[in-house]
Amino acid sequence: MECPLCVADRDDLIWQDGHCHVIAANDTAYPGYFRVVWKEHIAEMSDLGIFARHHFMDVVFAVESSLRALMNPDKINLASLGNQVPHLHWHVIARFADDRHFPESIWALEQRRAPARAAPERVALAARIDAELARISIAR
Ligand SMILES: [Zn+2]
Repeated sequence: MECPLCVADRDDLIWQDGHCHVIAANDTAYPGYFRVVWKEHIAEMSDLGIFARHHFMDVVFAVESSLRALMNPDKINLASLGNQVPHLHWHVIARFADDRHFPESIWALEQRRAPARAAPERVALAARIDAELARISIAR
């Protein structure tokens, strides 16, 4: 069986480098929902070498910081499950107290109808991710 994250077309690509992609989840209920996908087909974080782990998490945290800056959410949710698709990816989800599932996870039972929110502008998000990664590398 082909892995959907290995064969996915990247219409929803926001940002990438040699190791990972940041893609929009395109969930209309969650405009601040993005996935950071490791390019190589690996199942577990502990299968990555120490530098790769750090780089992957730097990108996850750069997306988190960017969403905080651009969307001002009440909370960021980070999740790495991979039970259905065992190819390393992190979910980075901007959450709001009035969103469809808050305070439950977005995969739980729906709590309410939620007001519509705009997604961050893609070019602005990519630029912000670059800026956050530059800031992290300067801090090291
Ligand atoms: Zn894969």
